[in-house]
Parts: sequence; structure tokens; C-alpha cells
Amino acid sequence: MANAPEILIVEDDPQIRRFLRATLAAEQFRYHEAVTAAEGIAQAQARQPDLVLLDLGLPDQDGLDVIRAIRRSSQVPIIVLSARGQEKDKIEALDAGADDYVSKPFAVGELLARVRAALRRSATIRDGAEGTTFRAGDIAVNLDARVVHVGNVEVHLTPIEFRLLEALVRHAGKVITQRQLLVEVWGPQHSEQGQYLRVYMTQLRRKLEADPARPRFLRTEPGVGYRLVVE
Ligand code: CA
Repeated sequence: MANAPEILIVEDDPQIRRFLRATLAAEQFRYHEAVTAAEGIAQAQARQPDLVLLDLGLPDQDGLDVIRAIRRSSQVPIIVLSARGQEKDKIEALDAGADDYVSKPFAVGELLARVRAALRRSATIRDGAEGTTFRAGDIAVNLDARVVHVGNVEVHLTPIEFRLLEALVRHAGKVITQRQLLVEVWGPQHSEQGQYLRVYMTQLRRKLEADPARPRFLRTEPGVGYRLVVE
């Protein structure tokens, strides 16, 4: 299919590459493969793919170097493939400019959901179709008017609660690290104050979620950060 999205796989493990090839081909995606960081960077520039699936442990350079090199010239969505439990790696990758991650061993359904979400997000940004009202379930956030509704009821947020929600909305669907949120909402000097986030996230969930103890939209990504889920 000529219009099928093109995905660049950067992964040195042949078994995982085979799995990714089969998964992407079954969904009619086009794909290219690179087995080293240098090849990944070169192909990202030459082919201008619609999305990059990137392993962090590559033979020649760190996957983080690939993210930084791509980000110098491109906003292509990058999804990192990382080992489960390597939270520090995920955080570094997200802070370096990756959009999302999936933990190995990953399920086909989860991988494809992340790929589709990232492609949707980048299409929305490219088309300039980001409206001023964001919706997730019953929650509606108007960023210009700074008004938040749950169903028909207007919800009052404090200025910091609103800034936190606004940051989540601007990154809707993707993981945002604690550090990124702290810098956006409180400023760089507070980048280590994770307790602020926990307190304000709890308040936001109380105001916006039907069951704040089991949030449907304002999700915690354990050990990494948060994600505003778009369904
Ligand atoms: Ca590897």
C-alpha cells in the first residue's frame, strides 16, 4: 500500500526484528530495518519515516544518541523498546525526546496501540487540527477559556491544578516524565520535587475522575511518570 505509514525499526536482536516485521506487515505498515545506531540515524534522515521503533541497547552507540541525533532535525514519533524494569532508561529516553515506550517482552496489541496513537498524534499536530477543547470521556478542557467540565458541571481548579492538567493535555496520549511535568508546571528549579506532583495529581483525580483511586484518564506510569489516556 503506497499510503501505508512507513516505520523504521532500529533493533539489533534478529528475533525481535522478525517479530516486529511480522506484526507490522500483518497490519499493512511498510517498514525498514537498521541494526546499528549509525544505520538508524542515517536511515531516519534518508527515508523520513512516519515513526521510529528504537531499541536502546545497540551495538555501536546508545539508543539515546539516536534519539538526540534524530531530534536535531525531526519531530518524527519515536517509540522506545526497552527491557521491563529499566525505568531509568525509559525516563532518560523520554527526557531526550522519545514519545513513548513499550517494555520487552511486549504484546502485539499493546505495541500496535502505541504505534497507532503516536501516528494519530503526529498527524493531528501536522494538520494543525489541535482544537482548543480537549475531551476524554466526560472530561472537557478548554485551554483558551481555561474552563474545565465533567459532564455538564463546571469544575473549579486552582491555578497550579490547571497548569498541571494543561501540561497533561498538551502531551495527551503519551507518557510524560515526572521531571518534564515538574519543569513545565513549577519551573526547572523544582525538577526534583516529586511530592508536589503526587499531591496535585491526587487533587486533580478527585475533581475529575469518577473513581479517583482507580483513575481511568489520569494514569500513573509506575516509576516513570504520568499519561493522560485518550480513548
Ligand atoms: Ca539490543
